Parts: sequence; C-alpha cells; structure tokens
Amino acid sequence: MWCVYCGRLSDARLCPSCHALLSSLSYASAYDQRCNVCSAPVLDSVYPCPICNEHVYAYGPYEGILSSCIRLYKHQGQKALAPVLASLFETMLIPRDDILLVPIPSSSSGKRLRGFDQMALLASITAKNLKVPYLRMFSQTERQFYTLLGRTQRLEQHHLRLNDVNNDRFRRLMDVGLTPVILDDIYTTGNTARQAYALLQQKFGVSCTICVLSRA
Ligand SMILES: [Zn+2]
Ligand SMILES: [Zn+2]
Repeated sequence: MWCVYCGRLSDARLCPSCHALLSSLSYASAYDQRCNVCSAPVLDSVYPCPICNEHVYAYGPYEGILSSCIRLYKHQGQKALAPVLASLFETMLIPRDDILLVPIPSSSSGKRLRGFDQMALLASITAKNLKVPYLRMFSQTERQFYTLLGRTQRLEQHHLRLNDVNNDRFRRLMDVGLTPVILDDIYTTGNTARQAYALLQQKFGVSCTICVLSRA
C-alpha cells in the first residue's frame, strides 16, 4: 500500500518516517516537564496544567502532519487514517481501563458528506483496542441563522443533545465506577466538548475527562 501522507510505498497506512513525524509533534515528546499531580506532559510546571484544570487531554497542537491527517480523515474521507488517529487516543488513555468512551457525533450534514460518523468510528476502534466500552450518547443538529446587517451573515451553530437511547446503559456503567471520556478531534474554543460535559453532568451528576487529538 501507499503512505496516505507522503505517498511512498509503505507496509502501514503511515510510513515509518511519517509516523515518527507524527509522534514528534505530540506534547508528550515535545514537553520535558510533567504535571506533579497527574503526570501529564506540560510546557512548564508553573503554568496551570490543562488536564487538572480543564480536564482536557490533547495529543498535540493543530499543526503539521497532525492537522493534515485530521483534515484528510475528516474532510476528504480518508477512512484508512482511522486506525492511525485512534492509536493517538490509545497512547493518551493507556493504561486506563476504568473509562467509558463517549464520542462527539458528526453533524448530520458532515455525516452525509463523508458517509460515516468520524468520531464514532474512532471511538469504536479505540474501545476495541483498549478493551473498554463506548456509548453514543449525543445527536448533533446544525442550526443556521440568517441575519441581515447590510450584508447577509450566516452563522452556524452546532447543537448537541442527549439522544436518551443509551441512558440506562450509561447509568449502569457509571454504577460500576467508570469515568466518561468525551472524545473529539479538535479542541478550539471547546464549546462542543464543554456542552457535552455539561449535558452529562446535569443529567447524571458525573465528572468527565475530555480527550482530543489536537488543540488549536
Ligand atoms: Zn509517509
Ligand atoms: Zn495535571
């Protein structure tokens, strides 16, 4: 097969040199220091740790090969990258086995465009490899607002809601002591992931961790 990133002949979806490039972008390899509390990689231990403070784990910054792989997967339907991206979640979550993965769903238009729900696919691969459960808890709708302010502005707002079909299973898994880990691809403003966190907290009274491939 061919490396999806550089196009060279390769035994894996990403050739060894592209894989090394991707690993070198991770916070884990870029940062020498570790948080005193949770031992996550941090730029400088004098700054507040993003995991202890915001409950957000991220693999690396949204740049270089990491952002390219996410774009290829998300916008160009390169499904072959799913195991590669799932392995980044696995790197961050190993060795935890007390977790329940909860993917942020694709918007309905995105799903139509790609033909699959990109985060649900990553969650299912990660869940299988880590031997932990995953549950699809949310639906996403897109609402578009049109305002006339001299010119037409279009505002898109992504709106999450609990779809309620898995509530009982979710409760059972909380009862046996699992922690929900919300999975998303990119954390920019964090609005969607925060919304998911708030919905789970309101409904079930649980604290979650947010785990993303990249922080923009
Ligand atoms: Zn390559
Ligand atoms: Zn920490």
